[in-house]
This record gives sequence, structure tokens and C-alpha cells, in this order.
Amino acid sequence: MTRPRLVIGNWKMNPATLEEAVVLAHDRRATPHEGVGLGVAPPSIALPAVAVALRGSDVRVFAQDVHWAEKGAYTGQVAASMLRGLAFGTIVGHSEVRRDQGDDDARVAAKAGAAFRAGLHVIFCLGESLAERKRGETDAVLARQVRDGIGAIDRAALGDAGTLALAYEPIWAIGTGEAATGAQASAAVARLRSELTRQGLDGDAIPILYGGSVTGGNASEFARAEGVDGALVGGASLKQDEFAEIVAAFR
Ligand code: PEP
Repeated sequence: MTRPRLVIGNWKMNPATLEEAVVLAHDRRATPHEGVGLGVAPPSIALPAVAVALRGSDVRVFAQDVHWAEKGAYTGQVAASMLRGLAFGTIVGHSEVRRDQGDDDARVAAKAGAAFRAGLHVIFCLGESLAERKRGETDAVLARQVRDGIGAIDRAALGDAGTLALAYEPIWAIGTGEAATGAQASAAVARLRSELTRQGLDGDAIPILYGGSVTGGNASEFARAEGVDGALVGGASLKQDEFAEIVAAFR
């Protein structure tokens, strides 16, 4: 099964100004990435400027989150339809959003459904906390997140598997400098694929990225890891040379 290789930079709440975001977008245009699908996920306020800066390139723009409702009284939120013409897809279920906005599996499923209905691709994040891993619950948590999250997405909206990618992001590895090992990522990815298949999806066809303290130094470990199709990169995606090293590892 040949799945696409993808490297997506999640800029989180960075950089500080729109001007810097445009500079970063131009850096991404110049990042060699033959054989790798390249994406950026800027903050929503920067989406229009970044979309313009990347127009005519094959670097894809993603939102960092999307609301589950089509419109209405949801102050501060962005509906999926508002991303048309600006974004190719969106991240949902990032652990920082789950943590800060109280998203649970059902809400992440609803967000993914809204994104699919608006024609967006979806990067669906999941992963266990440190406490869950220490208690030996990693497999159970991943199984639950697939069952109650991905399994609960409106099937009509889900469409074909080509529009969905997963990002295995163990919470303890995000922004901590303590990445998982390639073996840990492979084990989690295998578990996710079998759970996807259990949900009636083609687990072998769905790309799964690893995310959590990926750097230029450790990217090749994940690029070699069985079943890992790419990386969702936070902090290192803001550094041009380091991000280019990560992309090169997956080429
Ligand atoms: C992320 O935000 O998805 C992420 C993986 O962050 P970092 O690479 O900084 O750990």
C-alpha cells in the first residue's frame, strides 16, 4: 500500500505578526519537498495572507481548528465554510484545543464532520497523556479515540478515505523536547490502523503522521518508522533550516 508522505507545520499561536507569517510562508514555498506533500497551519487570522503568499505553489494551507456548527452565536470561532478558498484542510482534535476548549471525542467528530461537509481535508489528532501511558492505557485510549471520535463522524460526510489523515501525537511529547521513539510511534500507528479497520474504514489507506517534538535531529527516525507516513511539526516548523531538514528526511 503506497500512502502519501506528508509534513505539516502547525504554527500554533505564532509568529507574532502577519508580516512574519507571510515571510514564513515564502520560506515554505522555497523548501525543497519533491515526493512529500507539504502543508502549513497558520493561526486563523493569518490564513488569508498566507493563502495569498502560497497561491500558485503546491504548499497546502490548513486551519488549526474549525467549529462544528455551520454558523451562529459562537464568539471567536471559525466555521468550516469560512475557510473555502483559503484552506485545503483543517486540523481537528489537537490536544491543546482539547485541553483549552474542552473538546471531547464527540465534539472532535462533529468538527471533522463539519469540515468534510465544507469540502476540507482533515488531519485528526489523537494520542495519550503521560499518566495514561504510565498506567499502560495507551492502546485503550487510542482505541477509544478512534471509536468515539473517528467512528462517530457522519459517514456521509466522511466520504472517501483520501480526505482523512491522522496524527498520532502523544501529549507528553508535544512541545516537551521528549519525542517518542520510532518504535513507540510504529506501535501506536499499527494500533490505530487496526482500530480504523474495525470501524469499517480502510486503515491501510489512511495516512498517519507522528507529532511531538520532531526536530531535524530525530526526523529520520520517524521517516524510517514502520507505518509512519509523515510528521505534524510544531515548534520546529517555525525554523526554516530545521523544518527543511525534517522535510528532507521524509523525501
Ligand atoms: C504540535 O503542535 O502538533 C506539535 C507536535 O508540537 P511540537 O512539534 O512543538 O511538539
